[in-house]
Amino acid sequence: MKISVVGSGYVGLVSGACFASLGNQVTCVDIDEKKIALLKKGVLPIYEPGLEEIVKDNIKNGNLSFTTDLASAVKKTDVIFIAVGTPPRPNGEADLSYVEDVAQTIAKQINGYKVVVEKSTVPVQTGEWIEKTLRRYAKKGAQFDVASNPEFLREGSAVQDFMNPDRVVLGVSSKKAKEVLNDLYKPLKCPMVFTDIKSAEIIKHASNSFLAMKISFINAISRICELAGADVEQVANGMGLDRRIGKNFLNAGIGFGGFCFPKDLSAFIRISEKLGYDFQLLKAVENINEEQKRMFIRKIEEALWNINGKTIGILGLAFKPNTDDMRFAPSLDIIAALQEMGAKIKAYDPHSMEKAKEMIKGITYCEDSYSVCKKSDCLVILTEWNEFKDLDLEKVKKLLNQPAIVDGRNIYDPVKMKELNFRYFSIGRPY
Ligand code: NAD
Repeated sequence: MKISVVGSGYVGLVSGACFASLGNQVTCVDIDEKKIALLKKGVLPIYEPGLEEIVKDNIKNGNLSFTTDLASAVKKTDVIFIAVGTPPRPNGEADLSYVEDVAQTIAKQINGYKVVVEKSTVPVQTGEWIEKTLRRYAKKGAQFDVASNPEFLREGSAVQDFMNPDRVVLGVSSKKAKEVLNDLYKPLKCPMVFTDIKSAEIIKHASNSFLAMKISFINAISRICELAGADVEQVANGMGLDRRIGKNFLNAGIGFGGFCFPKDLSAFIRISEKLGYDFQLLKAVENINEEQKRMFIRKIEEALWNINGKTIGILGLAFKPNTDDMRFAPSLDIIAALQEMGAKIKAYDPHSMEKAKEMIKGITYCEDSYSVCKKSDCLVILTEWNEFKDLDLEKVKKLLNQPAIVDGRNIYDPVKMKELNFRYFSIGRPY
């Protein structure tokens, strides 16, 4: 099939490259000229395991190309995926102006039957707006269908997730669009869930909100564990073995971040409000998440007494391991709060430092974990990269001014930390 994917970010680039590797002719489009120039040379603007290889292979075999010219991409393709950003507005609503811009341009280029697919995460009823926009700007009699195909890949394992999804959700309004999308996804051999467009839109917001709720739930349980002297890891294990609950997303920590959960949660709350429903449950999920970061700062105070003038070493800046994505990472809020309180910050992250340097100023970026530890008054873990789990803790102890670790991801065994004579603070564990 001839496909264009508009927006070549984490979702668009991964989807485009994976569709190409399934044998389709894919044109990835972006307005960012620098990004497209790099991609044409096979240089990736993001870190995502396994992606570089398939991008390079498919450029080479002619299945994948890049352009900033959306108009010509639309003319020569039959299926057009919209995968541009839908960032939050200050009031939490999704900003759909990029989606509208793209829909207007697509409309003017329709020169035969096209399926226009929303892949970006959008509030329910966006499909209707895309349809209206296409009708308004396209030539009379233009043939197209709008469809919704929300994406569920996770940064850090995006290629693997795209190629092996639990399910593909396809919101369609015609038999023709259903057939086209069915053929496109058939090679993945996974369950395909065909729905109406609005239900598909809600499936995405509801799924992300549910996962965020699981995280806030276990974080709330971690507070109870701390107050009562129980161990949240044991509780999560005991709960998670129940197949109705499942063990994923039951890791207590410093709260969720990233480009999806915080913005999708607030967008879902806002769209519910607009429709006339006050989604109080999700408001509580948001509040618990914010409280978790404040609680973590209190743990650092517990370790250091006064934060003013102390040097705090931070390991991990990305919102989760195996990604360079810093958008809405908890590290942003935590570091800002510590700076406000007068701390000097040293930090290291294996892949996100380039992006972090644009977003966090006034801190010292170190070249490895041990440089962070050197003469710091305490070590703070914000992302659970594997390399932090394997640190030589005796060496860490010698380098630190005092043996204090505040671990926001529970990566070390508290019993071992005690044996090593660390003052060790973690989440929801009574040691
Ligand atoms: P991103 O910021 O990495 O990529 C978006 C891209 O769109 C950027 O490269 C930007 O330059 C481009 N763009 C903006 N306006 C454009 C226009 N008019 N024409 C062409 N390109 C344009 O964002 P992302 O993380 O890939 O997310 C995209 C969408 O997918 C969002 O709605 C997001 O919620 C959703 N989503 C993201 C993830 C994820 O893990 N990142 C997972 C599932 C769904």
